[in-house]
Amino acid sequence: MAMQVTDPVCDMTIDSEQAAAREVWKGQTYYFCSKSCQEKFRAAPDRYVKKADDPGAHGSHNR
Ligand SMILES: [Zn+2]
Repeated sequence: MAMQVTDPVCDMTIDSEQAAAREVWKGQTYYFCSKSCQEKFRAAPDRYVKKADDPGAHGSHNR
């Protein structure tokens, strides 16, 4: 079953079944709109993973 997921690199909302790439990091699966987003994530996952208690999760498009 497909679900809506957010590409952590570019903040794009994508369908998990249509993701171009996925990566498991620290037990969590992340989905990406493109291979280049996956590569950016791999290079610095800490930079892209939002903290669970991030209060700024309100549609911000900031990088
Ligand atoms: Zn992306």
